[in-house]
Amino acid sequence: MKSDIAISQAAELRPITDIAVAAGIRTDELIPQGQYKAKLHQKLLKRAATAPQGKLVLVTAITPTPLGEGKTVTTIGLSQGLNTIGQKVMACIRQPSMGPVFGVKGGAAGGGYSQVAPMEELNLHLTGDIHAVTAAHNLAAAAIDARLFHEQKLGDGFEEKNGMKALNFDADSVVWNRVVDMNDRALRRIQIGINEPGKTVNGIERESGFDISAASELMAILALASDLKDLRQRLGQVVLAYSRSGEAITAEQVGVAGAMAAILRDAAQPTLMQTLEGVPTLVHAGPFANIAHGNSSIIADRMALGLADIVVTEGGFGSDMGFEKACNIKARAAGKGPDAAVVVATLRGLKANSGRYDLRPGQALPKAIFEPDAEALEAGFANLKWHIDNAKRYGVPVVVALNRFPDDTDAELNWLADKVAQSGAKVALSEAFAKGGAGATELAKAVVEALAEPAEFTHLYDAEQPIEAKLLTMAEVGYGGRGIDLSEQAKADIERLTKLGYGHLPVCMAKTPLSISHDPALKGVPTDFVVPVRGLRLCAGAGFIYVLTGNVMTMPGLSDKPAYLNIDIDEDGNITGID
Ligand code: ADP
Ligand code: MG
Repeated sequence: MKSDIAISQAAELRPITDIAVAAGIRTDELIPQGQYKAKLHQKLLKRAATAPQGKLVLVTAITPTPLGEGKTVTTIGLSQGLNTIGQKVMACIRQPSMGPVFGVKGGAAGGGYSQVAPMEELNLHLTGDIHAVTAAHNLAAAAIDARLFHEQKLGDGFEEKNGMKALNFDADSVVWNRVVDMNDRALRRIQIGINEPGKTVNGIERESGFDISAASELMAILALASDLKDLRQRLGQVVLAYSRSGEAITAEQVGVAGAMAAILRDAAQPTLMQTLEGVPTLVHAGPFANIAHGNSSIIADRMALGLADIVVTEGGFGSDMGFEKACNIKARAAGKGPDAAVVVATLRGLKANSGRYDLRPGQALPKAIFEPDAEALEAGFANLKWHIDNAKRYGVPVVVALNRFPDDTDAELNWLADKVAQSGAKVALSEAFAKGGAGATELAKAVVEALAEPAEFTHLYDAEQPIEAKLLTMAEVGYGGRGIDLSEQAKADIERLTKLGYGHLPVCMAKTPLSISHDPALKGVPTDFVVPVRGLRLCAGAGFIYVLTGNVMTMPGLSDKPAYLNIDIDEDGNITGID
């Protein structure tokens, strides 16, 4: 089979205006960005709100290998399968970050004959939304350091000269890093404002650092805002630092929230693209599912749900990660949860969960997980069963999609399909990678059946509970562990955030995706573990409390053999080497 990029570049795409017309988007709602991309105007939100509402299908997966189990392939493949059987469908996915594109994972447009196209445009810059998030985030960072500098320099004269109240924060209280959309470990800890001895012209010296843009609270806000007004309000609520007396200092108080919103105005418009089979696809926002909430935007969902009968979207990593956050964070903000879940499983992924292999992060995957091995598959099945039950906990019907890889055997796939059916869940083989929509019609029919079932979506916990109770529910019910172990820092954070009046927010768990537990070494269905909570951070604009379990990195690094080594262009400007 041809490479993903070769398939994408050989595809005959339709002009984006044709895709828009077929999707029911009006000319005045469309802002074309060249031939194959268009932004959608905010006014579409109003029309979509009063239109008949479609059903939302959320694609999730088993505990993944580091390579991914094919959720995006299945999201795009299923949307093409639904289109093939005559449904009016749209897909909504996140914009890929360039960190992973040049790092280890490669592109995130799907793959094979189930891709969003043009894939190189999706994977690199697209319409610049991530750059806008980066710029708005870094404007706030520059604003704090400038304010810190001028308040210190002018002392009591600051208020008099500028007519603005001094915020009285000290350099150690700043909780706002800088961001860049790149894997760059050298920026994790930096010293800023370094001066010549006796000088202050370069600002106040302090330690700071960079996160990847996908981890920015602004990326979460872009994904969780319901419209421009809500976006502007949330930006104002972002806490940048604390005062000497411990009060939160917001972007509104610093006076920078309006300018941040101005930078993000166009980024708040989802980008319309198409799949290789012409299914309209909205690309919007790009929060990671381990260090953020891992789902594309509410604005895109709301537009798509007003245009199509079925909307297929993806939550990052396994159902303990992006799916959980879709249900407990996104659904709360949207006022709407998913109507059905698709759990993607692969033979390789289940074997990786058998507990028989050394799969420590950073090492090459053992060859054996790609080869037939009935015992490993049987041992790994428990992980799939856990994710099926986990999705059901939220009250939604579940369909298992068996994502077929080229070397998978019929014998193993049939065994797995039977096993899933015996457990009482719907199951379908997906050959969407090799065959496009034609390879996903069985899955599409199973999803249509599931959507006809009665369903009552429910959250895992009541957000009004105390923070500690929510964390306990996450650890015990959300992950199946034996409780939580709060560090001294975490206890202090809980007390402080509760006192400040933020105890009612849902929790966004920063956790490894490679295990249901907090420990990437625990495969399958771990039960005997206690979730350590190292600290909590406030994301008041996004509307959640960010919880650090274990050692979670908010700025990835590049490996000794990164994906960028393969990427190049020819003299005509064709990009090669992204897959
Ligand atoms: P996820 O969204 O779950 O992280 P992706 O859909 O991005 O996973 O797939 C991860 C990688 O595996 C991609 O490079 C994709 O092209 C590849 N892939 C996924 N499914 C298949 C398949 N059935 N056959 C071959 N390659 C696949
Ligand atoms: Mg994906």
